[in-house]
Amino acid sequence: MYRYRHEDFSARPHMDGASPGWPMSYDDLAPWYDRAEAIFRVRGSTQQDPTEPVHAKPYAYPAVPDEPAIAAVRKRLEKAGIHPSSLPLAIDLDTWLERAPTGWDAFPNTGEGKIDAEVGPLKSALDYPNVSIVTGARVTRLDVDESGRRIVAAVYIKDGVEQRNSAGRFAVAAGAVQSAALLLRSTSRAHPTGLGNSSDQLGRNFMNHNTTAMLAIDPFRRNSCVYQKTIAFNDFYNENNEHGFPLGERPAARAYYRQYPEGEFSGPCAGLAHQPDRAARLWLVPDQRRPAEPREPGHGAR
Ligand SMILES: Cc1cc2nc3c(=O)[nH]c(=O)nc-3n(C[C@H](O)[C@H](O)[C@H](O)COP(=O)(O)OP(=O)(O)OC[C@H]3O[C@@H](n4cnc5c(N)ncnc54)[C@H](O)[C@@H]3O)c2cc1C
Repeated sequence: MYRYRHEDFSARPHMDGASPGWPMSYDDLAPWYDRAEAIFRVRGSTQQDPTEPVHAKPYAYPAVPDEPAIAAVRKRLEKAGIHPSSLPLAIDLDTWLERAPTGWDAFPNTGEGKIDAEVGPLKSALDYPNVSIVTGARVTRLDVDESGRRIVAAVYIKDGVEQRNSAGRFAVAAGAVQSAALLLRSTSRAHPTGLGNSSDQLGRNFMNHNTTAMLAIDPFRRNSCVYQKTIAFNDFYNENNEHGFPLGERPAARAYYRQYPEGEFSGPCAGLAHQPDRAARLWLVPDQRRPAEPREPGHGAR
């Protein structure tokens, strides 16, 4: 549950071109991060990462402690001049560990122990008498009033029957692709190419989430961690000493749990890459680049 950094919002040069910046700043979003982190019961530390933006107050819950093997990696990174920090995680540690000591990307308590949208905000929202949820419904379009300035209804299909839901305000949260697709489908006289698409940019410019797994393998050491993903570092996030440019959207290297063994490995220790207790995994999330190809006309609208 990372916050974007101050620098993410302003214009700045990247290796592949300039980022124009956003029409809002970190300070505009900060109070909302505070509220979201409280609802998701995020654990973390505001003191360890030099790129960490200002928080009005510390996280309400302490960071998830490193297991011994990761604590050793943290120490060795610090010795090398890196600033590893505790990953902000939305985990109910006690509830999870009541069931069994297993990694949080796995069973046994993905229901209550991992604070996702359902466990966090949705459950507490449903406590209000005026909140209800319609499941198994597919929203097909949003209708606007005559002026085209106000959404008046969400039209959806449930059990094969088209229905409408009217409200004074709507929030679209159908994921990056489907939100754009829904708005593109929501054509009207006032918005012939879709809602919020006067620029014709809606649904274009998606970025690939480039990631790389790096494995440190040592045949003479055992990694006994159940959950490795407690540290990260952002030392090269805003710049690097090779060419000066920011090295990415989230170049944190997270120590990962025993997943992603599908890659191809070579070298004398390659066989050990598939043995989770012989490797420490780092997950590198480098610069996010815009794809060259634009959205095909009408593609998102389907
Ligand atoms: C494999 C995987 C691993 C990930 N791991 C991590 C991680 O470790 N940490 C992390 O921070 N993030 C992770 N992410 C990213 C994270 O899951 C997403 O960023 C996040 O879920 C986005 O939330 P959202 O509410 O915007 O959209 P979503 O979670 O995608 O929710 C959108 C919802 O809208 C519904 N919907 C779509 N269209 C319609 C429609 N027309 N009508 C009705 N409903 C509709 C969908 O069914 C869905 O339920 C991972 C993602 C993937 C795919």
